[in-house]
Amino acid sequence: MNVLMITQSEMPALLPMRECIDVVARVLETVARGEAVLPLRQQVVLPDGSGRLVQMPAFAASPPALGVKVITVFPGNEGTDVDSHQGAVLLFDPADGRLLAVMDASSITAIRTAAASAVATRLLAREDAAELAILGSGVQARTHVEAMLCVRPIRRVRVWSRTPAHARAFAREAEARHGVSVEPVSGARDAVAGADVVCTVTSAREPILRGEWVPPGAHVNAVGSSTRDHRELDAEAVRRSRLYVDRRESALAEAGDFLLARAEGAVDDGHIVGEIGDIIAGGLEGRRSAGEITLFKSVGIAVEDLAAAHHVYESAIAGGGVTVLDLGGSRGREAGPSATAPRLPPVGSG
Ligand code: NDP
Repeated sequence: MNVLMITQSEMPALLPMRECIDVVARVLETVARGEAVLPLRQQVVLPDGSGRLVQMPAFAASPPALGVKVITVFPGNEGTDVDSHQGAVLLFDPADGRLLAVMDASSITAIRTAAASAVATRLLAREDAAELAILGSGVQARTHVEAMLCVRPIRRVRVWSRTPAHARAFAREAEARHGVSVEPVSGARDAVAGADVVCTVTSAREPILRGEWVPPGAHVNAVGSSTRDHRELDAEAVRRSRLYVDRRESALAEAGDFLLARAEGAVDDGHIVGEIGDIIAGGLEGRRSAGEITLFKSVGIAVEDLAAAHHVYESAIAGGGVTVLDLGGSRGREAGPSATAPRLPPVGSG
């Protein structure tokens, strides 16, 4: 059995942000059509709370993808040479179950999460959104600037981060990379004032964004919290917004921003308007007026990883020069990936 290996350094070329945005939009529409199997993620939390192992399996019919992402989340790695999110995505062939590829999960997570926020922003932010606020300055902050620039005519970015030196370094790097004005500011409130799009991308446990600060007409991507007891938004920020999610079942189980606002009595389950895939599929209304605040609560779902992995696999095969590991056990039939292997067969083709 030949298995394709994709490393972190290979990923940006194989998964450009603009392509990933379209891939994620396609798979969210697939979920909306009921053509995906997506159990809730399973977590092993270490007894001392220092980290967790997260397993995220899924199947999607389009793009055809079957597999699992397995990552560890160790927030204490922040500021070290080791990513806070590490692991692998295993991509299988949905036609016959072959293991096709093993890929770096850190880079897929970084890119697909920002791509999902870009899909939501494309659907929900005002067309003329030009002012971007980024709260946080880590891995997700970096990919979110790139993703937001792909979908709206952003002219100015303001970034706040808990550690002011990190915000300054981030601003320098992002400005040089993207050629857009990026200003570090000393308070989250200063970043958000007058913003058209706000991305919260921190590991905060307590609110860093207050509802009273959010300007009318803004769109907010709330990304950093994907557990029940972490939140970046206070209850007022959730209450004031028209709330969309990546997946309702996941949000009801994992979205601290929503669940803690609900526990405080600010909202109930009916406050969730729906899933962004439903807007793409045509069954749900998006923004209704220039003045309303829209909120995308992202927890991240495995179909996003696997659709991205499928795209990476196809790009790698098409480009050649791939690294293949022979794991054996193919019982004489070598149909796995190689520089000349066929593209993934359609689902169910056997
Ligand atoms: P990084 O470790 O790269 O960056 C973490 C950021 O969070 C830093 O900017 C840090 O600020 C900030 N931060 C940490 N603790 C606090 C705090 N108590 N208050 C305010 N800011 C804080 O992480 P990533 O960028 O990879 O991930 C960011 C968050 O996004 C994580 O919580 C992660 O679990 C979540 N995530 C969500 C996904 C989804 O699909 N929704 C997918 C992937 C990640 P500073 O450095 O200035 O101190």
